[in-house]
Amino acid sequence: MALLQISEPGGAPAGRVQHRRAAGIDLGTTNSLVATVMDGHARTLPDEAGRHLLPSVVRYAPDGSVAVGIEAQAASFEDPLNTVASVKRFMGRGLADVQTLGKRFPYEFAADGGGMVKIRTRAGERSPVEVSSEILKVLKGRAEKALDGPLEGVVITVPAYFDDAQRQATKDAARLAGLNVLRLLNEPTAAAVAYGLDKGAEGVHAVYDLGGGTFDISLLRFSRGVFEVLATAGDSALGGDDIDRIVAEWILAQAGFGGEAGHGVLRQVLHQAREAKEALTAAERVALEVQRPDGSLWEGVLDRETFTHLVAPLVERTLAPCRRVLRDAGIRREEIREVVMVGGSTRIPYVRERVGGFFACEPHVDIDPDKVVAIGAALQADVLIGNKPSDEMLLLDVVPLSLGIETMGGLVEKIIPRNTTIPVSRAQEFTTFKDGQTAMSIHVVQGERELVSDNRSLARFELRGIPPMAAGAARIQVTFQVDADGLLNVTARETSTGVASHIEIKPSYGLDESEIERMLKDSYAHAREDVARRRLREQQVEAERVMDALRAALAADGDRLLAPGERTEIEAALARLESLCREDDADAIKSAIEALDRVSTPFAARRMDDSIKRALAGQRLEEI
Ligand code: ADP
Ligand code: MG
Repeated sequence: MALLQISEPGGAPAGRVQHRRAAGIDLGTTNSLVATVMDGHARTLPDEAGRHLLPSVVRYAPDGSVAVGIEAQAASFEDPLNTVASVKRFMGRGLADVQTLGKRFPYEFAADGGGMVKIRTRAGERSPVEVSSEILKVLKGRAEKALDGPLEGVVITVPAYFDDAQRQATKDAARLAGLNVLRLLNEPTAAAVAYGLDKGAEGVHAVYDLGGGTFDISLLRFSRGVFEVLATAGDSALGGDDIDRIVAEWILAQAGFGGEAGHGVLRQVLHQAREAKEALTAAERVALEVQRPDGSLWEGVLDRETFTHLVAPLVERTLAPCRRVLRDAGIRREEIREVVMVGGSTRIPYVRERVGGFFACEPHVDIDPDKVVAIGAALQADVLIGNKPSDEMLLLDVVPLSLGIETMGGLVEKIIPRNTTIPVSRAQEFTTFKDGQTAMSIHVVQGERELVSDNRSLARFELRGIPPMAAGAARIQVTFQVDADGLLNVTARETSTGVASHIEIKPSYGLDESEIERMLKDSYAHAREDVARRRLREQQVEAERVMDALRAALAADGDRLLAPGERTEIEAALARLESLCREDDADAIKSAIEALDRVSTPFAARRMDDSIKRALAGQRLEEI
């Protein structure tokens, strides 16, 4: 007789996995969304009014309450200082960084103790992390209501170029909102997952993301079940907002405003421009009307052809970064298998047409372009929380700028080159510069240039307790480790004693993609000059080492082993090298080092003989 299976009281019925509550969150610059997998399908979750997109706007209201979304957005004109939009741009950034973004933002900025930016509101100073956490709290509430219980874990998406500080800030915001982050996921990777490209053929895919204020293009390679971000590029000041401005300017020109439209009119026209733009996706033409300064009404029509003409230059501007990622990744245009469209602005028919033409393929547009990232994140969260135990998905990202350390002479030694896929661990050995050196200062830098001063400083720490040895004898292994979330850990270890020291890098200043771009451009522009400067520094460091050693030898044995004439000759060569070191001719320094070497060789040989004699003498003594 077969035994009947009975499940434990209160436990899940045998054979059925308990479904765990997980969600994917797209924390966007303009709009944010939350999605979850229900009955095997990923879907975004709406608010009570049926709206899926939550405008990423937070208002600190006079009554002490915090409004998020549509309501906050509506107040942004009357209460600009206390209504924070586009906070994603400030994540993980310092006050100085934000000020370089220009006068685009109406807020009053301040800095915290570490130089990180804060926004002065009537509720007090608020950090971007705090503001973002308000958005996350609303999405959390939405998901918990839909899932009827507390969320156990979330996947939050970030731009592929987000650096350590920006990723860390995103995680902090999640923690502050009471969310358990399973993983941060790159936005383009999430979009590819939403389209099931991880179930399809191997190859390289392009993800074209044109949102409200930013443009990103990423190349992903999918092979053996793994996604790898090959390269990213973009423009952090290009998006739907710019299209609104172009259309608004057109309307004002048509209506006969000679560039003197007041703030109120501008606001109203911008609003109309945005509505017209969005309507033109489906409609061939839209009617417009504006009140002129003299009170008369202007009525006009914007048709799709004119609109296309207006946006064409902007769409054209997105193609330069497209060419750049191809070049960066060493991929030919024909090698791109699939193109995924992301971001509300890719609804514009001309954008689809132009991008399809550029990559010579039909782009994926079936999933709502403003929901696709959240959907991919939800699918990934479902896997990571364990609802699909068999489905092992590994997603890889890249390091956007090279990581390295400072060596003598202010030179950079790259340890992890840019566009290396993460997680990654790389080690390199270094040694001491001076005799008896017992500590080493490790300076971690990020960038492509040869000199430390042209790169970005991430952190400094010290390795102490190195046993005193001759210069160049100690072996210090420095290991760089970047985890799956893109956070960097650096360890330095003296290999003979095992003395170690390490640091987790949370740089106080973030970099945005335009800065990354600037740093890359700089490195190309200065490549030749950098090589020359590097050579000069190397010669200067070598000269210093040789002079130090010789001076020590002169002090110890000069009187005993040198004839006065010889000594004058060595000192003259030494002085000549010393003065050349202050100039910038690497070849001259090199030949001066060689000259010094020639005149001091007999002295070095005598010292060697002398020490051997002494050593042998010592031995004989011991033998007795
Ligand atoms: P982000 O990723 O920056 O948060 P979204 O992907 O949500 O932004 O995109 C928002 C932008 O998409 C806005 O500029 C909005 O006007 C634009 N947008 C939405 N729908 C359309 C449409 N049908 N046609 C053109 N632009 C659109
Ligand atoms: Mg987006």
